[in-house]
Amino acid sequence: MGGQRQANERKRVVRAPALLLALLSAVLPSTRATGEEGSAETIFLNGRFYTADDQRPWAEAVAVRGGRFVRVGGTAEVRALARPGTRLVDLRGRLVLPGLVDAHTHPSLEARYPYQPWPGFPFAQLRRKLSRFPAPEWVRVRALADSTRILSAYGFTAFGDGRTRLDQLGAWEALIRQGGLHQHAVLFVPVRVDSGLPAPTRPAQLREELARHRLPGVGFGAKLFVDGYLQGETASLEEPYEPPGGGRGRLATPVAELEREVEELDHAGIPMQLHAIGDHAVRTALDALARAVAARGGRPGPQHAIIHARLVREEDLPRFGRLGVAAVLDAFLAQPSPEDGITPEIGPERRDERYLAFRKLVDAGALVGVCSDWPSASMNPFHAMYAAVTRRSPGHPERGTLGPANAVPLERMIRAYTIDNARVLGIAGEAGSITAGKWADLVVLDRDILRRPIEELPDTRVVATVFEGRTVYDGSALPWYLARSEARLLEIGNGR
Ligand SMILES: [Zn+2]
Repeated sequence: MGGQRQANERKRVVRAPALLLALLSAVLPSTRATGEEGSAETIFLNGRFYTADDQRPWAEAVAVRGGRFVRVGGTAEVRALARPGTRLVDLRGRLVLPGLVDAHTHPSLEARYPYQPWPGFPFAQLRRKLSRFPAPEWVRVRALADSTRILSAYGFTAFGDGRTRLDQLGAWEALIRQGGLHQHAVLFVPVRVDSGLPAPTRPAQLREELARHRLPGVGFGAKLFVDGYLQGETASLEEPYEPPGGGRGRLATPVAELEREVEELDHAGIPMQLHAIGDHAVRTALDALARAVAARGGRPGPQHAIIHARLVREEDLPRFGRLGVAAVLDAFLAQPSPEDGITPEIGPERRDERYLAFRKLVDAGALVGVCSDWPSASMNPFHAMYAAVTRRSPGHPERGTLGPANAVPLERMIRAYTIDNARVLGIAGEAGSITAGKWADLVVLDRDILRRPIEELPDTRVVATVFEGRTVYDGSALPWYLARSEARLLEIGNGR
């Protein structure tokens, strides 16, 4: 499970003798030594590296060996690791970020019903229409490979798969065997019977099923549904929906059952992603998590996250930080849309004050991650960052803003997409920042988004994506059928 894996990895990273570390830091005060010193296979030079590491926020060069950063720093100190045969990559002053992380996306769902002519089709309807015709395994493996290509093209080197059914683990296994997975993956398996398909109900059973597959390096967690969606009024609210509906929605799970599941999973050390959209669902999820945290007497446990958290009551905001629970928001949806499905449901006041409350959650001390929920929305991180920073729709000033009081600075969004999302997925010991000892995951951008005008941000392109020291995307165009579905998702915007 994610928690265990992380603990093991932490041990590995810190095993360098303390004395050696002390000596190295005395000789090279600006170098972060890891005991992996000596030489580099690849050196990336002349970059403007934003590291998302508070110890050293900026660097000019990085050295890589065995898929990991071995030195991060100034040109001279990194070049000192060059040997005959070291590959030197000149980045010509470009901005480089840590490989991006999507905390909650749906390659598994896309693979089950791939290549729909109409991407972004709402999940519920899609399931109803197609649930009897899932794709055969070889098609699923192909579709997973395509998902990984799109992720690489947007600079992602890690993701959480928001809903992995057990009968899909074979396809993931095949993809890994073929060398086709270019991200660190954490798979979240639904823990109850879902759409009539077999799903594990007990943590022990989940472990047993997972142990049957060879999925090296892959993390796991559990996915739970607390409520539904605002459109359709199945999200659970504290105050009624706007007329003519006027109800409060409903919880997907009886409270007692949710509490039992949450406590059992937490006790077993299994990280959870809890889908909760309405403010009553968010409160119910926090209540259940609070019971679980109390049951372990405040001892550290797995990193849990509430996914979507579209509406959070004022008094619940500080509970995220207090309980150590992450909030993962759909940044791309923080923009007005002509196909606005939100305002008719919750009205302009709740929308402007509390919908996707990035700012309020950050101010209240929450660990705030971001997700695309792709393919129900675009996974383009630059459009999503733009939306969260401006609360506007790229290229459409006439649409106005959506809750500008909850806008956050761009640097906060970059951190959300890197180190904070890595924390959300429990992989921050290995990924999420450009830090010696971590996996060498990078994204090179075509422009300096921290210096260029914000209006340029949505046009940003990835020049290269480097995963574990290897270039897995080189800036070339996606095949037409993938490019077309992505363009369609951008066009739909916040249509949900
Ligand atoms: Zn989802």
